[in-house]
Amino acid sequence: MRRKLVAGNWKMHGSRRSNEDLLGAVREGVRSQHAECAVLVPAPFLAQAESLLSGSVVAWGAQNLSEHDAGAFTGEVSAAMLAEFGARYVIVGHSERRALFAESSKTVALKAQAAWRGGLVPVVCVGEQLDERESGITERVVEAQLEAVLATAGLGEQELVLAYEPVWAIGTGRTATPEQAQEVHAFIRALMARRLGSRAAEWRILYGGSVKAGNARALFSMPDVDGGLVGGASLQAGEFLEIVRAASVAA
Ligand code: PEP
Repeated sequence: MRRKLVAGNWKMHGSRRSNEDLLGAVREGVRSQHAECAVLVPAPFLAQAESLLSGSVVAWGAQNLSEHDAGAFTGEVSAAMLAEFGARYVIVGHSERRALFAESSKTVALKAQAAWRGGLVPVVCVGEQLDERESGITERVVEAQLEAVLATAGLGEQELVLAYEPVWAIGTGRTATPEQAQEVHAFIRALMARRLGSRAAEWRILYGGSVKAGNARALFSMPDVDGGLVGGASLQAGEFLEIVRAASVAA
């Protein structure tokens, strides 16, 4: 049985002062009977997340990492550094990084491997652009993105979370319908089953793209939607906590 996970992607938002309120409210609001909850914060705030969330049921993590373990890579942050601050998850291959920082699927695969070497769980994002959906090639795009990761990364016993994030739904207020999400999630699960056999049933596939309190329950009720990767709504404690509760009810 897969436990639902709601992970908040703060993107490049926050300040030491505002984080105190947000992290405090999330810590207070999430109880052990709820779905698993994580906040994925900008790297400079990991120490603050560790200090304010340690001892709670809320996990924390980062939004990016280097594919290298150490060395002359100015500006980069390694998996081991994130792990030193208690990070459990790290987003890999978010569409903003693919589009704005030219991250290829090969790089995404190397980053997933680096995450595993450092003891982190990568949250690997895949998803199609609007024109790709309209051309009817969603499955082909998602398959290519996933195969690139599988081909390079290989898969042993490591834990992996996948996130299906249609690019046209990210930060746009336009959400995939529960049926659209389920269709792609089931496709991903079947693809993984071909590669991994029964282990595919263990892996969580999150949906991301304008998840809000108002649409979360319907999305999370779909059999292959194992929670959400939540951007904008994760910055408002009340809204985020409602989404965590929706996942707990749907679990
Ligand atoms: C995201 O950043 O991964 C995301 C899904 O953003 P939003 O929820 O704001 O669409």
